[in-house]
Amino acid sequence: MEHKQTINFGAGPAKLPQPVLRQAQKELLHYRDTGISVLEMSHRSSDFARILNTTTDLLKELLDIPDNYKVLLLQGGGCGQFSAVPLNLIGLKEDRRADYLVTGNWSAAAAKEAEKYGKINIVHPKLDSYTKIPDSGCWTLNPSASYLYYCSNETVHGVEYNFIPETNGPVLVCDMSSNFLSRPVDVSKFGLIFAGAQKNVGCAGVTVVIVREDLLGHSMKECPVILDYKTQADMNSLYNTPPCFSIYIMGLVLEWIKNNGGSVAMELLNKQKSTRIYDVISASNGFYVCPVEEACRSRMNVTFHIGNKEGDKTLEKKFLDGATQRGMMSLKGHRSVGGMRASLYNAVTLEEAEALASYMKEFQKGQQ
Ligand SMILES: *Cc1c(COP(=O)(O)O)cnc(C)c1O
Repeated sequence: MEHKQTINFGAGPAKLPQPVLRQAQKELLHYRDTGISVLEMSHRSSDFARILNTTTDLLKELLDIPDNYKVLLLQGGGCGQFSAVPLNLIGLKEDRRADYLVTGNWSAAAAKEAEKYGKINIVHPKLDSYTKIPDSGCWTLNPSASYLYYCSNETVHGVEYNFIPETNGPVLVCDMSSNFLSRPVDVSKFGLIFAGAQKNVGCAGVTVVIVREDLLGHSMKECPVILDYKTQADMNSLYNTPPCFSIYIMGLVLEWIKNNGGSVAMELLNKQKSTRIYDVISASNGFYVCPVEEACRSRMNVTFHIGNKEGDKTLEKKFLDGATQRGMMSLKGHRSVGGMRASLYNAVTLEEAEALASYMKEFQKGQQ
């Protein structure tokens, strides 16, 4: 059966590369020469150990992760890390204080969760809409904070950092769930990076945590053992049953990224894809409106309204109906912001982004 007609612009879980799905299908019943499926395999077996180690080695290679970092593959999603980060790191300093940048739904949720465990300082005046990144010149950073936290790509609002925040001391923590491996990143600038796999590097179920070794072993005594980085690091992510199949799928996606030029090539492609859409928006004389300031428009999630700044509901419905007819799915914006959102993660091809750009131009013409 051929499903190639559908273009998936979903925000997550999101499109997977076709070759990955084909390989997973081919290997589903009998993984290599094991005679069984990965779904049936003991997480303590040497076959699964090979899958786990290959996957972490690929992450180290693709992100050039320095030797003094551990790579953990955990459950609980990005949201699990909203709790795990403070439980493990807020006690780095006795005061239990942490700084947060709140630039969208995801960092707001992380800050709210962290408040259970210590004193949280939002380092900038509260934003009345999540359409920009407050100027770093006016951040009030606490030099004795245990860490500074931010979300490098706000999936719901389409706001992405094009720089790495300077903490002037405290450890830097980043939620990279929705732009992980979409571009190169200097891991050595971070104390901890985490990312759920289901946006850019796989399917739901596994969360990557990259943590500097000296930050292990400082968790609060209340920290649930499965969220304790040191326990998981000491046991190579095998304290309990890991999400075996999701790890296997992520391994295939990482191999695909490697075969397609790694993070540098992904960045080039992601720039091209998002530029195609933003160019149509800019040239539309206000027919399409992207609410996000230009300097921080996301390459991963392009958000826009149709007809005017708030979005004309009739036009937007018509646009979505036409998209469906063309096999383009999941373009509807997040329920909290409305409008449209095109997610252009690694697996979305340039041709698919171009198909959307053409449709947008055609749709505008049809209204005039
Ligand atoms: C999707 C997402 C999350 C939440 O991930 P879950 O796996 O659903 O917990 C957190 N942060 C960002 C930036 C996301 O895009």
